[in-house]
Formats: sequence, structure tokens, C-alpha cells
Amino acid sequence: MASRLLDKRIGGHRIQGYTRAGEESVIVLPEMNLAFDVGRGPSEAVSIDYICLTHGHMDHAAGVAYYFSQRCFIGISPGCVVAHPRLIEPLRRLMDVWALIEGHPSPHRLVALAPGEEFETRRGLFVRGFEVNHGGPCLGFSVIERRRKLKSEYADYSGPQLVELKSKGVQITRDLDLPLIAYCGDTAAGEFLDLDYVRNAQVLLLECTFYDPDHVKRARVGKHIHVNDLPAIMGRLRNPHVVITHVTRRTALAQAKRMLKAKLGPEDWQRMTLMMDRPRGSKARPEEVVPGESGAPG
Ligand SMILES: [Zn+2]
Ligand SMILES: [Zn+2]
Repeated sequence: MASRLLDKRIGGHRIQGYTRAGEESVIVLPEMNLAFDVGRGPSEAVSIDYICLTHGHMDHAAGVAYYFSQRCFIGISPGCVVAHPRLIEPLRRLMDVWALIEGHPSPHRLVALAPGEEFETRRGLFVRGFEVNHGGPCLGFSVIERRRKLKSEYADYSGPQLVELKSKGVQITRDLDLPLIAYCGDTAAGEFLDLDYVRNAQVLLLECTFYDPDHVKRARVGKHIHVNDLPAIMGRLRNPHVVITHVTRRTALAQAKRMLKAKLGPEDWQRMTLMMDRPRGSKARPEEVVPGESGAPG
């Protein structure tokens, strides 16, 4: 079966994803062995060792049990879902219920991450959680590369001199954090937009769910971003690349793109990509249909 996920290279990073509000959101970073949300559990996410789950809405979290079950089925390590501490117990219970339904347990690893905490996925690569504004337990994530740099005052020291200092317990290095990719999940604007490791990440994945002028109230109630909010938000961001996620199915993607372009100045438009934008000439998918009204959160 052809992949549902789009595959892009943005700011030097490979980003695969499928993201439509209320339907499915999953972003896979294959080079980092990390994914943001799991959507309905596509194979690209199943092969990834660390899933960072932003919140419990079904369009982001439906595939959690399937993820662990598939990994057991194909005989690889259980993998890991990183989530807000308040989601860990419900997820544990979900896995217990699935064990009853399936007749056997699927090995799983759930890691609690509170806002401001970090989790090291491989040497020098950290995921830091931050609080977003979507109601309930929800998190954004920033992937940070930590490089160890020699302090400038020791730049002219020889190797043996440095070794000697080190042996005396002198701290000759400092950590340099490089925020690579940040993902805000579902959220309205909030203080997190001013965090260094969010606004300076090389790539920021930011939702902009609603576009229709009649949908402002819907955005406020569901705690999502409306296109009207974006000019002020972009003014706070220093990211060279901003990737728009979670566009509602109530607005055709081409229309959302036109409205974004019209709302933003040329410089902000230049640094923007729509995650679901297909390359010219590729076939549009049939989901470009406005569904009926629904009360389900997304
Ligand atoms: Zn959603
Ligand atoms: Zn949501």
C-alpha cells in the first residue's frame, strides 16, 4: 500500500507526516529515530523507537496500542512512548485492556515527561517537553542537540595543559544547546512561543487549524490557532522554517494556503511550508472534502 505520509526535507531535516485536524496527526523524523504523535499508527511510526505524544486526542493518540502490538508482532524492541505524567496511568490501563482483548500482553515502555524536563534518546540528543495551551495534559516537544564546547578562556591551551586542568577537576567545557526541531502539537498561542528552544529551533512545526472568518469562535473554544492569529505569532518567532500542521478538513488545503499567503508578509511566507502540501503535479487525495459538523475534539 502506498504511504499516506508526505515526505519532505526542510532545514536539512527529513520530515515525514500526515496531519489533518480531527482525522490524524503523526510526524516522523526517521534520521532522529523520533516521532511526534502516532496518529493511527502508520508503518513509518512503528519502526521508530521513540514516540513523543503531545496529548490524548484520538487523532494524535489512536495508534499507541497498535504501535506496541506491531513492534511485538514483527519481533523488535518494545519501543517507547513519552507523554505527560497525567497520561501515563490511562495509557497503562489502555495496554492492560488490550491485553484482555487480544489474549496476550504487548510489551511496552511509557515514560513520563513533565514540562521543562528532558529525555535523552541517544548520546547528545535530548527531547525537552514544554507546556502548550490546548487544555488538559498536553505537551510540546523540542529536539535539542547538546554539543560540548571548550570554554573560550582555554582556547590557546595545549593538550597536556588541558589534561592537567581536567585532572584537577577544572570544568574546561560548557554545553552548547542547538534546538533542531520543535513541535507544538495542538495549541492556541501561549507563553511557550517565547521559549528559546522553541522560537529559535531550526524548524518549528506549528498548528494553524482554522481559516474561515466564521471559525474564530471554534478556534477559541477548541484552543487552536486561527489564521488571523498568525501574523502576531510569526513576529515572535525566529525560526528559519515554520511548518504548518493540523489544517481543518473544513477548509481545502489550497484555500488555506492562499489565506496564509494573503495574511503574512513576504518574509514570513518565505519561511513557511504546509506539511500536507503535495509537490506540484502529484495527485490530490480524496479527503479534500468538508465533513459535517462534529463535537469531537481534535
Ligand atoms: Zn488534533
Ligand atoms: Zn487536540
